[in-house]
Amino acid sequence: MEKNQCLARLCHWSKTKEDLHPRLRVGYIRLCENEPEEGNMLCEQCKQKKSFDEVKVPTNSVVYGLLTEPIPDTAKLYGSIFYKKMVELYDITPPSSWLIRAKEAHELGEERARQWFKLHEEELEEGGKMPPKKTVSKASAPLPKSQTLLKTFTTIKTIYVEKAEQPKQLPTEQQGIWKQELGGELCWVSESNHVFLDNEGDIGEFLGKLVDGKFVTKEEL
Ligand SMILES: [Zn+2]
Repeated sequence: MEKNQCLARLCHWSKTKEDLHPRLRVGYIRLCENEPEEGNMLCEQCKQKKSFDEVKVPTNSVVYGLLTEPIPDTAKLYGSIFYKKMVELYDITPPSSWLIRAKEAHELGEERARQWFKLHEEELEEGGKMPPKKTVSKASAPLPKSQTLLKTFTTIKTIYVEKAEQPKQLPTEQQGIWKQELGGELCWVSESNHVFLDNEGDIGEFLGKLVDGKFVTKEEL
């Protein structure tokens, strides 16, 4: 089993900042070595930190987004758009010792992101791509009533109303997920229409997807 790695893009500003020009002081990224909880992109510590978008100034305790996302444009970090523009504008040649460390850190970050994408390739494809037409027509065909629960999900009947809870956010805070009743069973349905088992109030096993309002099991996807 691969180790789950925190995807926070951090910067040890006080250690990595360098005056490359009277108008350009930049640092470079560092990776977080903590392990996030299962299914999380950030470790518990990094979740508590402020994001660069919020504070706008570089400090040692800011998260510059996720490694799987581009570096914020205005971040004073090696590799950002700001950095590239300034280097070009003032024709700066950074000191090679700093540049080597900066590049190394940058590449380590990219490598971690690549690993994450590799590990999550399948889910991303399911979420990002429309299923091929064949799958849709198969899923839309009426299903025999005698089949198991997982096979008899049809269209969404009612939104789950027992507690009228607020939509629950996934730990990544990138997708909403709601409890819904599907075919008489409580399930979690994400914004990208992924359906998960309700495990006593928590998000359980991945079951399949809603395609045009019909449930398609993960095996059929
Ligand atoms: Zn972390």
